[in-house]
Amino acid sequence: MKKLVVLTGAGISAESGIPTFRDAGGLWEGYRVEDVATPEAWQRNPALVLDFYNQRRKRALQAEPNQGHRILAELEAYYDVTVVTQNVDNLHERAGSSHVIHLHGSLFEARSSVDESLIYPVNGWEMKLGETCAKGSQLRPNIVWFGEPVPRMEEAIAYAAKADVFLVVGTSLVVYPAASLLYYTRHNIPRFLIDPNIPDTPAMPHFTCIADKASSGLARIKPRLIEIA
Ligand code: NAD
Repeated sequence: MKKLVVLTGAGISAESGIPTFRDAGGLWEGYRVEDVATPEAWQRNPALVLDFYNQRRKRALQAEPNQGHRILAELEAYYDVTVVTQNVDNLHERAGSSHVIHLHGSLFEARSSVDESLIYPVNGWEMKLGETCAKGSQLRPNIVWFGEPVPRMEEAIAYAAKADVFLVVGTSLVVYPAASLLYYTRHNIPRFLIDPNIPDTPAMPHFTCIADKASSGLARIKPRLIEIA
């Protein structure tokens, strides 16, 4: 089976009712990222940060995967598919994708604030102050905050470098290093991008760009992807 690698961003979950970040004028659900999604924010006001992610988790639990997520799962019948997502929701998994790399972490995991190897599942929507890891420190969301290293980037690069077909869906390609994944793919492979706003990056001339929403764009190119599988 050929290898299909898909980089997804907040745009693929937009039709599930989870707002993207940049479409909202640089605010994330009304918050500035510096106030809720950085290590400094956590030091300053852990209660606010926990509450912010509790609300995101509640919203993600209420959402359902959309046709875009489902088509990526269906493509597993034709390809060995790896989804590399910048999203912290779990809609790819709930749609049936079996190999998902969460570059920026997951809403449904907590981790120790002193030892990043101590990771725990989050059941339900709420994390609270006072919940601690085995070493006694406060649990934080297992999310890669702005300014933090991206531990799974090397693994994602290894998959991108071996891709036979590469697809990008619903990302503005402004968050690094995630956006640099495009530059690790081999030059002679078919590459596609689906987004209502085609990002203005130097890689775009090497992509077949489809200016469309994730669900309808993926429905449009699914036959082509099956044809070249
Ligand atoms: P992004 O950089 O992925 O930008 C959103 C992109 O989605 C834009 O290019 C926009 O044109 C596109 N888009 C909007 N509606 C679409 C649709 N229906 N179909 C396809 N594309 C559509 O993501 P961001 O919003 O800038 O977020 C940056 C970071 O914030 C992410 O990397 C993530 O860690 C976090 N975030 C996660 C979620 C989530 O988990 N669902 C949501 C918001 C933000």
